[in-house]
Amino acid sequence: MLCGIMKQCASFKPSPQVQFFFLLFSLLLSCAQIEPSKTEFVFGTVCTITLYDQGKDSVYRDVFARLREIENYMSVNISASDVSRINAAAGIEPIQVREDVFTVIERALFYAQLTDGAFDPTVQPLVSLWGFSDDKPHVPSQPEIREVLPLINAQNVEINRQTRAVFLKERGMALDLGGIAKGYAADEAAQVIKNAGINRAIIDLGGDIVILGEPKDKRPWRVGIQNPNSNPGIFFGVLEITAKDGQQSVVTSGAYERFFEEDGIRYHHIFSPFSGEPIINDLLSVTVIAPIAMDADALSTAVFVMGYEKGKQLIDSLPGTEAIFVFNNKSVRTTGSVDFTITDNSYHLIHN
Ligand code: FAD
Ligand code: MG
Repeated sequence: MLCGIMKQCASFKPSPQVQFFFLLFSLLLSCAQIEPSKTEFVFGTVCTITLYDQGKDSVYRDVFARLREIENYMSVNISASDVSRINAAAGIEPIQVREDVFTVIERALFYAQLTDGAFDPTVQPLVSLWGFSDDKPHVPSQPEIREVLPLINAQNVEINRQTRAVFLKERGMALDLGGIAKGYAADEAAQVIKNAGINRAIIDLGGDIVILGEPKDKRPWRVGIQNPNSNPGIFFGVLEITAKDGQQSVVTSGAYERFFEEDGIRYHHIFSPFSGEPIINDLLSVTVIAPIAMDADALSTAVFVMGYEKGKQLIDSLPGTEAIFVFNNKSVRTTGSVDFTITDNSYHLIHN
């Protein structure tokens, strides 16, 4: 049986703003046990942690402290963050960063190379030009886009593992880890929880999900996948997964997450580093299932940019990694061994 997240969180008293998101945002889950959760607003989104074992209060505190630490180090909205310091020194000098920041940047550059630049952490000047970083989104002119495009190039990021130095070679370049850092944060939350001796938990950072262990009834976890045509928290199908080696992650990227409308056209936040515009293809969302959430996060964004054909090839080439593709015409395709059941009959599964 599936249940809404509110049932799991009877002890939580959110602010009206959080409550709004919280009611709408949710997911899943296996209802065999109804546990209290803890929700806080981090990374500009709703983060909910559900622990199923002892020692909860201090663990919840430690998990959210770690999430805030990562936000403080990696946010482009915080001027003292490591990422902001790198951006301010673009074209001037390398900046030494913390180990965890270096790890995420290194992995982001790995995915930039693997995806031939479809995933590009230097996308920040575009995010900014389109007004997604200052809450005043608007469509820029073509000359403005052409001016910014040469700055979007992950190959112009120099890193040095020995010194943990990061250098953006051109003035005006800037990193934005929005496509990968929430995944890293979910992995780190899982680590804090495991270090505390807790073996069963659900981490949901605004749709980047990590599950630890297995439900009490030993059945697979059941994860509701967001309906890309509906309000947050409304799912259109259910994914059944087990936590291989104790941990599994499910991350979705979609055109519906952040968007604005101008002259009746909808513009969203996932950009083509090649055209400088929000991606337009036949995909509404991509969900990636992988052991490490940082990988699933980068891949879901990358595959959304690459489109179905190339994206599926990439997923098929990565062991232990699966995907669910949702198309504009409400058809759905999955890779390999994904166990996915559609619950909203306006969608239909195409069998490969
Ligand atoms: P994903 O598909 O995972 O990522 C999309 C994001 O990746 C875009 O928003 C953009 O930032 C980037 N991106 C776009 N195109 C590409 C591309 N081709 N390659 C690589 N990356 C791309 N939001 C707020 O409103 N307020 C905040 O204070 C805030 N703070 C944040 C702090 C941190 C450290 C992080 C990581 C994010 C923060 N966010 C904030 C952003 C917010 O949570 C984003 O919506 C989120 O990171 C995007 O995740 P997603 O799952 O929606 O989409
Ligand atoms: Mg992502």
